[in-house]
Amino acid sequence: MVTAVMAAVRRALVYRRRSRKRGGGISPNVQYQDTDCRAYAADRQYTVVGSYYDDDVPASNENFKPRPGYDALLEEVRSNAAEVLVATEVARIFRRVLEALEFIELASTTTLRWIETIDGKVYDLRTAAGVAALVAEVNNAAFETSTLSERVKRATRAKAREGRFHGGMRPYGYEKDGITVRADEVMVIREIIKRILDGQPVKTIVRILNKREMPTSNGKLWTPSKVKSIVTSPRIVGVRTHLGQEYPAVWPAIVSREDWEQARLLVQDASRRTGQKRARKYLLTGSIFCGVCEKPLIGNTYYPLPKSQGGKPQRSYRCHTSDIHGLAHGCGKVRRMADPVELFVTELVLKRYSSPTFAEAIRRAYQDSSHDELSAYLEEAQTYRLKIQEVEEAYKSSRPGMDLDTMLRIKLDLEEALEAIHAKVARHSTGRVLAAIPAGENVYEAWDKADLDQRRALVTLIVRRIVLLPGRPGRKQWHHKATDQTFAFDPERVLIEWKF
Ligand SMILES: [Zn+2]
Repeated sequence: MVTAVMAAVRRALVYRRRSRKRGGGISPNVQYQDTDCRAYAADRQYTVVGSYYDDDVPASNENFKPRPGYDALLEEVRSNAAEVLVATEVARIFRRVLEALEFIELASTTTLRWIETIDGKVYDLRTAAGVAALVAEVNNAAFETSTLSERVKRATRAKAREGRFHGGMRPYGYEKDGITVRADEVMVIREIIKRILDGQPVKTIVRILNKREMPTSNGKLWTPSKVKSIVTSPRIVGVRTHLGQEYPAVWPAIVSREDWEQARLLVQDASRRTGQKRARKYLLTGSIFCGVCEKPLIGNTYYPLPKSQGGKPQRSYRCHTSDIHGLAHGCGKVRRMADPVELFVTELVLKRYSSPTFAEAIRRAYQDSSHDELSAYLEEAQTYRLKIQEVEEAYKSSRPGMDLDTMLRIKLDLEEALEAIHAKVARHSTGRVLAAIPAGENVYEAWDKADLDQRRALVTLIVRRIVLLPGRPGRKQWHHKATDQTFAFDPERVLIEWKF
């Protein structure tokens, strides 16, 4: 299959752009561009199936002036006319990264695959490296015309002062133009504000919205940060901000300024509180699982006694019944104080490490790859990710032969391959962590000097999984000698699966 495609004669499209002479006239170089591109194609035995050109367009109105040649070129690409696009320089084809992105996307749904320039540069739009190189090239070209970016900045400032929409993703509550309101979403925003003013936690609101299956503006599930970003955005009171300045917007306000100011304060308060909570870190999150439902446990701080009665915060690992979207997650049946679990697991981990033969064995097991290998793995992983995207898009655009079963089968294969690479990458990075412990150093000393991330790495290096079984009534007492602390804790309810 692959060889058949490689052997087939490639069809090429040529695109040229006439540049403007300093005096204002139009230079004749567009003809040379055509000759050069055709010579390049002939050298490589490509069949030129079309050649398009446009007059250069002054930068200041480049967003508005149509490019008929470019549009015709796009049409040709969409109708699978060619595999290669040839130009003298990338900057002749694309003036903005956005335009390049359109072609990159087309490369996954049409026969187009390569963009080539006559200096011999080949951009393979179906590989991560090719895409990255192309985007970098367009970026550079755009950057070099600094007068242009100055003009854009000026235009942005002018737009802001006039209260116009800066463009980009569709804001929730409005159509893509950023001005026309969407009645259903306006109702949701007003409801969110009302619930906040009623004192409901953001998490609760997130759960309610997701249960109703009304997605956000980009079709995703709600998260606390999404709700907060809507509530704190001045857009919903009809204000356009730019560099800290407020301007009356051209779009209508959808809640009153008074309600918005109040709701914004409430939400910001809440985020400050959760920010503090997050600062308390947990050694075992990611490695520790619920013994009932097998879901990952989360680190959770709670007050066994209310703060008003002098309660102290208590760190714990618990099975959570809802995830960040407020949707069903775990069984909620397991919660254990974090301190004894961490002390117990640490003790066993360090004991295992302190055998010199064992340490040497895993050091060797992990140190089988070099730096170059790591970047090769990462690139390979990116290629698989793009392929998965490509397959999904082919299915979405109903490409012939791509039915649901086929798509899922191919995707599964790709995902398995991707996972295998992830495992290699993980092995590689843990190997570096281990190498950071000086050979011969006492692992207990290393542990004392290590920060939380390094400790975490040392644990995941040899621990596959920690499972917390639900507690039994009649709890045991456990004494931790090194710190001389006693806990109500049963070590037998903690299972450790070792990698080594
Ligand atoms: Zn559970």
